[in-house]
Parts: sequence; C-alpha cells; structure tokens
Amino acid sequence: MRLVLLGAPGSGKGTQAARLKTYLRVPHISTGDLLRAEVAAGSPLGLQAKEVMARGDLVSDEILLGMLKERFSREDTRDGFILDGYPRNLAQAAALDELLAGLGQKFDAAVQLEVDNELLIERLAGRAQAEGRADDNPESVRKRLRVYDEQTAPVIEFYRQQGQLTVVDGVGSLDEVFARILEAIGAGREVG
Ligand code: ADP
Repeated sequence: MRLVLLGAPGSGKGTQAARLKTYLRVPHISTGDLLRAEVAAGSPLGLQAKEVMARGDLVSDEILLGMLKERFSREDTRDGFILDGYPRNLAQAAALDELLAGLGQKFDAAVQLEVDNELLIERLAGRAQAEGRADDNPESVRKRLRVYDEQTAPVIEFYRQQGQLTVVDGVGSLDEVFARILEAIGAGREVG
C-alpha cells in the first residue's frame, strides 16, 4: 500500500501514520521527522532548515526533493510507504508524481485528515506544553496554519479533481480515526 497522508499541522497525521506503519508493515516517511533529524545532527542541511522550520515556513522544495529521493532510493520503500508531510505545495505534488513515475510507482490513495481550525489550535497548544517543539509557539503555529491554507490546500483540491482524494474525519479518539482511515483505504480486513 502506497499512501499519501494530508492534513493541517495538528490534524494527527504523524500519530496515525505511526499506527498505519505497524498495521500495513510499510515504512513511515515523515518529512518533518527527516528534517528534525538533520537539525539534531547539525548537518549543513539541518543548519539551513532550522530557522525556517522554527518560523513555521516551508523548507525549500529543492532540499525536500533531495531528501525524498534519497529516502526512496532505499529498498524498504519498494513495496509500499506512508508519506507524511509531503507534498505541501503544488510544485511538490508534481515532483512526487515524477519521482514515483521514475520508480515505476503510483500512490494508491491520498488521505486527508480533516479537523477544523479551532481544534487544531487547541491541539497544537497542548502539544507545545507536552513536547516543547520549537515550532509549536503561538506565532509559528499561526504561520503554519496560514502556509497550510495558502499552499497545501491547493494540493488537496488538485488531488480531489484528479479523483485521488479520500477525506477522513479527523475528530474523535485515536482508535476511531484509525478505523475510519482503514475503512477509507479498504484495508479493514487486509491484515491480522
Ligand atoms: P506539522 O505538520 O505539525 O507542521 P511536520 O513535522 O510535518 O509538522 O513539519 C514541521 C516543519 O518541517 C514544517 O513546518 C516545515 O517547516 C518543515 N517541512 C516538513 N515537510 C515539509 C515539506 N514537504 N516542504 C517544506 N517544508 C517541510
């Protein structure tokens, strides 16, 4: 199964992707996690990305594509993946299609976790307290939500028009949302 998970910051993508990974036995590729690992390692790429991320802006398409190409060159992505955090703008959506086409692959579904803005802000405030992520401060949260509306929402529209989009209600318990995703991708009875 090749999945693209879409949703605003705080929509629960990361949490659900981690569960899907175990259930579907495919790697979870989170561009946010990949970038945070670069920042933590203090690599040249990480040094470049750090300030941009803390501000809540998007890291350059070029850096993202390079990172993604490297990740997709690894064998474990051959039979499936859950992509989380990419694409975040229309140029990235085109780049993803091209990257996958080059590998002779297509994704099976783009799943959007839908959560309204008020709840997103509430969840991100809670996460700021619990995890202390550098980009969960109020200013950066506002910026990330704005970037999402301006740049990522068009990707969702694009997939909708292509008939590739599945929308899942992201409000409810972790188990409820997980069950909805499985149903939406037709995997409810696939594994164990
Ligand atoms: P969230 O979805 O909560 O914003 P992520 O972990 O997905 O968190 O991303 C954190 C930050 O990493 C983003 O705000 C952005 O700066 C950077 N980032 C992640 N994915 C991308 C991407 N595809 N393009 C550009 N920047 C990205």
